[in-house]
Amino acid sequence: MSELTELYEEVRTCEKCILSQGRTHAVPGEGPENAEIMFIGEGPGFHEDRQGRPFVGAAGKLLEELLTSIGLSREQVYIANVVKCRPPGNRDPQPEEIDACRPYLDRQIELVRPHLIVTLGRFSMQRYFPGASISRIHGQPKRIGSVIYYPMFHPAAALHQPRWRTLVEEDMARIPELLAKLEDIEEEEEPMLGQAEQLSLF
Ligand code: SF4
Repeated sequence: MSELTELYEEVRTCEKCILSQGRTHAVPGEGPENAEIMFIGEGPGFHEDRQGRPFVGAAGKLLEELLTSIGLSREQVYIANVVKCRPPGNRDPQPEEIDACRPYLDRQIELVRPHLIVTLGRFSMQRYFPGASISRIHGQPKRIGSVIYYPMFHPAAALHQPRWRTLVEEDMARIPELLAKLEDIEEEEEPMLGQAEQLSLF
């Protein structure tokens, strides 16, 4: 059993926060264990809670369409969430729930070691862009070392607000350019370490 699979088992039986009480299934995340791209959403919704899989409802369908539009499939990317259990009534996850669940996401990132981390929505954005407003910074990548962090609106927001759908589509369309940038980074003799750099690619 891989370390990631062991982590999934731990998540499925976790009772570290109150969200364990209302869940049908915890949703650890899924994707290739060495995925180059990781998408991080907010938390499971109704369908995700039922199936124990991330992004399987309407927002997931849109995410799949967006991936297809740039020549990727969901099987090629890793998909995780900030909290692994469904907040009741799809309310926002609370700070103490995000904190309780943080070690699982930290570990997933350590094990998968993605080079491009795409945050979907403001809760995952806060991990890497604390205090920022998603309306201002969506679509603006930041590089730290050999990893690029890229904030986008959550696909669910695009379903509810047609004007955000265009923004989500435009931001997704820039991902191939980021992947090309990653190839340049790999070729650098001495990759920058630990220092944040705002990338102006577009
Ligand atoms: S949300 Fe995270 S910390 Fe809370 S019970 Fe589920 S797995 Fe555990």
